[in-house]
Amino acid sequence: MNRQSLDELKQQIPLMGYLQAHDWQPARPLGPGRWMGLCPLHGDHQPSFLVDANKDLFYCYGCGRGGDVIRFAELYHQVKFPRAVAWLRQWRGAEPLLQEAARFYRIQLHRHSEAVAYLYQRGIRSQALMEHMGIGYAPGGCLRGWLTQLGHSLQALREAGLVTRMGYDAYVQRIVFPLEGNLYGRSLSLAAPPHRFLPGSKGGLYAWKQVQSHPEVILVEGLFDYAVLWEAGFHNVTCSLGTHLNAHQLRQLCDGPRTVYIAFDADGNGSGQQAAQCLSRSLRERGITARVVSLPEEHDPNSLFVQGGDSRQFQSLLEEAQ
Ligand SMILES: [Zn+2]
Repeated sequence: MNRQSLDELKQQIPLMGYLQAHDWQPARPLGPGRWMGLCPLHGDHQPSFLVDANKDLFYCYGCGRGGDVIRFAELYHQVKFPRAVAWLRQWRGAEPLLQEAARFYRIQLHRHSEAVAYLYQRGIRSQALMEHMGIGYAPGGCLRGWLTQLGHSLQALREAGLVTRMGYDAYVQRIVFPLEGNLYGRSLSLAAPPHRFLPGSKGGLYAWKQVQSHPEVILVEGLFDYAVLWEAGFHNVTCSLGTHLNAHQLRQLCDGPRTVYIAFDADGNGSGQQAAQCLSRSLRERGITARVVSLPEEHDPNSLFVQGGDSRQFQSLLEEAQ
């Protein structure tokens, strides 16, 4: 890791772009190319985080920390310098590749009737919804050829996890949803594990930028839950991709005053509801109003809507939530 390659890395990842990709928003300008905003590194309530986009440097008047994009990645992901550099390198390389893969999968979706039929049966029926979520389909056996033909190396595909060590497409017969820095794949086949992510973080809360400003937010477990709620007109919905929130997701939920409605699955063994109670406690400890939505037994938001539920019914569940 020499000086030159570090400078190169920093040039390729402007601090402002990296911050915004992690949901940071400038609150007010402070002269040309200089911005103040809430500090993503500590629980900040008034903007104390200064970003100088010309120099690619930050400084926080609240927690007293500052530096370049590598320093930011160290503090934000709580890792040491070499790990932060590796992380940024991967982020720089994987981003365009994942976008290209997602685009390819979107084209495949309408060529495979089994995929469209599966979505239909899970309540995903409108073109607008599919476009909003960027939903695609991985038939398997053709992504590698497409991406290498576009000039991506097999090595890069392996590192991103799109291709296995043996050189096969990693996602086979999976509905694919693009996430921030990852792709989620839901298997159509019962013989394969239902949920898969590429290696690396599952990222932040789904579509957080679009719900961040709502005073009331609905949090669900899965993307199919998200889809039916969005379709039913609840555009203040977000998704944690599982009942366990990572530190980044928890920080997002607590980045301002709001009420969070937790609508996890009401599965038979009670694990979804237990996770919801646990999360609502930890949100309350951080000063966030949390309400747990009780769905009818054995239901999740997706099955509720697929089996004839409507927005009025879900609205009354929200109103009953404690
Ligand atoms: Zn700070």
